[in-house]
Amino acid sequence: MINNEFMEELLSCPICQEDCAYIESEGDWCVYVICGHCGSRSVTANYSSPEERVRAEMQVTHLWNIGKVIAERRGE
Ligand SMILES: [Zn+2]
Repeated sequence: MINNEFMEELLSCPICQEDCAYIESEGDWCVYVICGHCGSRSVTANYSSPEERVRAEMQVTHLWNIGKVIAERRGE
């Protein structure tokens, strides 16, 4: 089991400052964080088991929180 206390909370989007970032999964093999407001996203992390998925989510959360975010200039 993975202890929840190691799970960081997602911070606000560093690009648009909105607090609407969430973890998205893609094709059941990778996860990333995406901003629901501006569409900026973190890098993706791959996983191949439920435990790896938890680790992957922690990883993308951490990367998001330290500002490793790819800006998406959607609709501009
Ligand atoms: Zn944003």
